[in-house]
Amino acid sequence: MPKHIPQRTCIGCQRVQAKRELMRVVRTPEGQVVADPTGKKNGRGTYIHKTRECFQMVLDAPGKLQHALKLEKPIAPDDLKTLIELGKSFPAQNATETEMKGTHSEPRRAQHQAAHHSK
Ligand SMILES: [Zn+2]
Repeated sequence: MPKHIPQRTCIGCQRVQAKRELMRVVRTPEGQVVADPTGKKNGRGTYIHKTRECFQMVLDAPGKLQHALKLEKPIAPDDLKTLIELGKSFPAQNATETEMKGTHSEPRRAQHQAAHHSK
């Protein structure tokens, strides 16, 4: 049996990819929204590609993130700002394939799976 690789859907571009390619964002028990690079924090989490585009897509429409994390209130501006800064630290998607050969990016498959299971 091949080893099972956990896959997650990016809430930005809706593409499904191996979990380690994505950044987990969690809602803490205190209601804060924070990035969770270790993937070990408690709380409801969702995933975003570690690319500038995907973070931007999500953060341009924070309601998406709010919905994914089932938040009752909009995300606090400070939390949002922190995530925006984090997003800016990631490479642009076009660059990832050439800059990080092998180790980071798998060939992008044109998966257009409708991820409607998460409702
Ligand atoms: Zn994405």
